[in-house]
Amino acid sequence: MKIDFDLILQASHEMQIKSLLGSGDGHEAAATLFFGVSDIDADPWSGVRRRRFVSHAFQPIAGSEVVDTSPIHITWTTDSLMHLFGEAAREGWIPAIVHTHPGGMAEFSDQDSRNEAELARTAHLKGTQGLISIVINGDGVMAARIWITRDQFEPINRILHAGPRIALTSPEANIAHPDFFDRQQRLFGDTANRTISNLRVGVVGGGGTGSAVLPLLMRHGVQQAILFERDEVDLSSLNRLHGSRRKDAEDRTTKAEIHQRTVHDADIGMKLVTIDAFVGDPGTVDALKACDVVFSCTDDHAGRRVLNRFSRFYGIPVIDVGLAMQRRADNGFDLFARVSTLVDGHPCLLCGRHIDPRRAHEEALKRRDPIGFEALKQEAYVLGEGDLTPAVAAFTTEAACMAIGELLAAVTGFHGKSGMHATRIRRFHASDDRFPGVTPTSGCPACYDPNTLGRADVEPCLNMVL
Ligand SMILES: [Zn+2]
Ligand SMILES: [Zn+2]
Repeated sequence: MKIDFDLILQASHEMQIKSLLGSGDGHEAAATLFFGVSDIDADPWSGVRRRRFVSHAFQPIAGSEVVDTSPIHITWTTDSLMHLFGEAAREGWIPAIVHTHPGGMAEFSDQDSRNEAELARTAHLKGTQGLISIVINGDGVMAARIWITRDQFEPINRILHAGPRIALTSPEANIAHPDFFDRQQRLFGDTANRTISNLRVGVVGGGGTGSAVLPLLMRHGVQQAILFERDEVDLSSLNRLHGSRRKDAEDRTTKAEIHQRTVHDADIGMKLVTIDAFVGDPGTVDALKACDVVFSCTDDHAGRRVLNRFSRFYGIPVIDVGLAMQRRADNGFDLFARVSTLVDGHPCLLCGRHIDPRRAHEEALKRRDPIGFEALKQEAYVLGEGDLTPAVAAFTTEAACMAIGELLAAVTGFHGKSGMHATRIRRFHASDDRFPGVTPTSGCPACYDPNTLGRADVEPCLNMVL
């Protein structure tokens, strides 16, 4: 059965790989990495089985372990890699070797193939599930492949560079019609359009914010999207749900059906898959793992807590949108929209206090054990669902634009080379934006613990009860 391989390289690891280029004094340099394994049973768009390798840790090679280098070759001792292969086999990681071609091409040479074949044999003897090899040239261009047996390799043609900046190394020529892109092309150019066209984008929640995010993604050229949403439309949604009609409320149409209709009627190249489940339902994980970036447009704290960890374990950027709007006792307003981006190097939503852990726990309990939840509610041990919060289309839609803006910033660097802001809070009532600084809490599994970064598949999933 056909398996597609691809690789997710997280920002800190990519930076360490690129630092090799400055370290070798014009000679080739090398290092090793560990990758977590993310197995996808069926890609939501192609149905194909996929295996993604997610960068987990960078391991420098000590100078004493390198036998010989020149500007055009490097060799190192197999012995020095034995402990590395052994550790990878024990932990279920895939070991990787990376080396530079400072003045050459990002292509594997015949000499590379001979060296690697020997290492691949050793790695397999040690019990690893393969050996990844990456080569990087002086311009920072990379090529990757995996030795799946001791004498056979497969190319890894697709690399998602994930972090505050997002890029794709990919041969995919899948791009929307040039005329459709012309006006965007004039600003951002061809590479940005190609990247956006080929990103696989998840949207969690198709309510006020999600209903704006999804058609905006389509207008920017995204061709593969997946929506997680199970609610129906009622009359109270019509004040903000883009694409909804009065008849939808009368017919109790699902939000997913409305967004399918919007995408279908526009007919500009988006393939939208919808999943009728809450994120946090174990059945949704396979589809989430297939995404390159996920927009979290839910007001559900349990789902947000799952995504918070998910981005850490799978190296997949999550752009989280939250709104808080209320009338103050003095008759003024508090109107906040927040966009946080969860990537390698940014603090998580728990450390930023954007998730209410008690609410998250109760929402999860309500789904897992509705009877137990009702019993607790009777005894007034839970907060309960409370009143419906206010929602106004101008603000939910602007929050959606802020979120899409961060994706564009990641791809193009339009608001700075460092890419996405960790958190941006727009205060509509005060007409300003704030960028709160948050320090990750020591030991936090979602943004601090190095063991969770790019850990990918573990048992139980995300090391949490879903
Ligand atoms: Zn080489
Ligand atoms: Zn954290």
